[in-house]
Amino acid sequence: MSRKEVIEILKKEEQHWVGDGFLVSSMFSPNHRLSEYLSPFLLLDYASPKEFSKTNLRRGVGVHPHRGFETVTLAYKGEVEHRDSSGGGGIIKEGDVQWMTAGSGLVHEEFHSKEFSNQGGDFEMVQLWVNLPKQFKMTEPRYQGVKETQFERIELSDGVDMKIIAGSYKTHQGSFKTYSPINIYDLCLKNASCAEIQLPKMTNSLILVRRGSIKVGQKEIKAGELAIFERDGDLIALEAMQSSELLMLNGEPINEPIFSYGPFVMNSKQEILQAIDDYNSGNMGKFPSSLP
Ligand code: MN
Repeated sequence: MSRKEVIEILKKEEQHWVGDGFLVSSMFSPNHRLSEYLSPFLLLDYASPKEFSKTNLRRGVGVHPHRGFETVTLAYKGEVEHRDSSGGGGIIKEGDVQWMTAGSGLVHEEFHSKEFSNQGGDFEMVQLWVNLPKQFKMTEPRYQGVKETQFERIELSDGVDMKIIAGSYKTHQGSFKTYSPINIYDLCLKNASCAEIQLPKMTNSLILVRRGSIKVGQKEIKAGELAIFERDGDLIALEAMQSSELLMLNGEPINEPIFSYGPFVMNSKQEILQAIDDYNSGNMGKFPSSLP
């Protein structure tokens, strides 16, 4: 086994609103200068913990399209309600995860759930965009929702708990189907605990620290920071400087050209123009009239 070192730490950027429900920092987005080390992940928006007052309004983001990739929403606090034109939808609550394959295209909306809006409270969420290999960009849309209690969990070492969201860890399986090799784990570490995480060779790996602070080699990664690792090596060794919570992303890079424009991520400019055309002519799914 050889250790992977951190090549760069991205800090939380200035926050911006997505609709009126999600105050996020885009930790990275398509065409980032380090995108070869981020692939297959295209974007990570982090809505760090924020308290929302109670309201009767629907806070969130209204109908908009996507094509050519997948959106993965992880609710850590609060509740997100989602509907899309392919018939997918549901409410994800604390610890639940939603995996929406936009594929050939759909339109959807994302709001705080009615119940959460009425009560108010703490809200924390991550939304990831996961690229699709060229051969799957126009696949049928798909919706997968998994509840907190359904995930497999393991105690990695003393004081270190792993929740396997996607992919696998050793003999333990994640809960989502993916179109390319991806592993996603939530890690919870007690103060001063240490973990060694084994990862497949020559894959990309990222860690978002949500709470606390960890050390990898000589580098400290604090809450709201995202560490990017080198591809070499097959082991990440980390030490918790205090009680910490992390999101770990790992995947085989997709070495294909990326053309992105707003909500569309394709392989060529021609495909982007086609996506815009299809959306404008109503061929990307209708909403809400096409819902059952
Ligand atoms: Mn969206």
